[in-house]
Order: sequence, then structure tokens, then C-alpha cells
Amino acid sequence: MSCIFCDIINKIIPAEIVYEGKNTLVFFDIAPSTLGHMLIVPKNHFANIEEIDQESLGLLMTTAKKIAAAFKNSQGLAGYNLIINNGKVAGQLVNHLHLHLIPRYEDDGLEAWGHGEYQGDSSKKIADEINNYLNNK
Ligand code: AMP
Ligand code: ZN
Repeated sequence: MSCIFCDIINKIIPAEIVYEGKNTLVFFDIAPSTLGHMLIVPKNHFANIEEIDQESLGLLMTTAKKIAAAFKNSQGLAGYNLIINNGKVAGQLVNHLHLHLIPRYEDDGLEAWGHGEYQGDSSKKIADEINNYLNNK
């Protein structure tokens, strides 16, 4: 199975690398949402967050925290988004787990999430179903 991020990790195709650790690679997104948009990627292939093991997830998040803090402090960033898209419907284009680190600037024009409201017991139903699932696993 071919994977563009595995190819970047294995240096088969080029990318603009920001940081390379033992388990994690960080490189600039080829089509940045804002200046400095980068991807934080485990070197082992996991399709999404459900597939990654606990230790690898810990290493990935530790790198995300380290790079985000270094980025923020070295650039004087006001803030940033850390985003994982899981599944096509959520906007996942590359099926190799990755975190988007998107620096945010005043008036950068990126749309915020919408905010709705729950009707009736729809939220309670979801919570009950999640807990039933967990209790019956
Ligand atoms: P997602 O939609 O969450 O799967 O994000 C995939 C991201 O990978 C997109 O933002 C793409 O712009 C980015 N991307 C795709 N190919 C490359 C590449 N060769 N080098 C760097 N970023 C890439
Ligand atoms: Zn891969």
C-alpha cells in the first residue's frame, strides 16, 4: 500500500522538514492554511487515531507539545490550532495519522467552528450509547 507520508518519512519524496525525532517527523504542509502550518507525524504508519498504540500516541503528543511551544515562543504567536482529521467526512485526505499545527494570527480569516444547541434528549442519548458501548466491550 503506498502512503505519501511514509514516502516522506523514508525520504523517497522530499518535504520541508522542521524537526526529526526518533519516532516523529514534523514538516511544513505543502498547502498551508496559514503561514507556518505544519504536520506532526508518527514515523510508524497508523491510519487514524483509533489505530495508534498508547506509547506511540504519547510520543506523538509529547512532540506536538514541544514543537508547538517552541514555535509559539520563537515566533511570538498569539495561538494555534492542533487538529486531527479522522475519516473522509471529517476532511482526512492522507490516511496516515497526523496532527495539523496551524498558527493563528489576528484577522487570518480562518473560519471558526459553528455553535448550535441540543434539542430534547439527543445529547443524553449519545452519552448513554457511548457508555453502553464502553461497558459492553
Ligand atoms: P488531512 O486532510 O488532514 O488528511 O491533511 C493532509 C494534509 O497533507 C493536507 O493539508 C495537505 O496539504 C498535506 N499534504 C499532502 N501532500 C503533502 C506533501 N507531499 N507534503 C506536505 N504536505 C502534504
Ligand atoms: Zn504511512
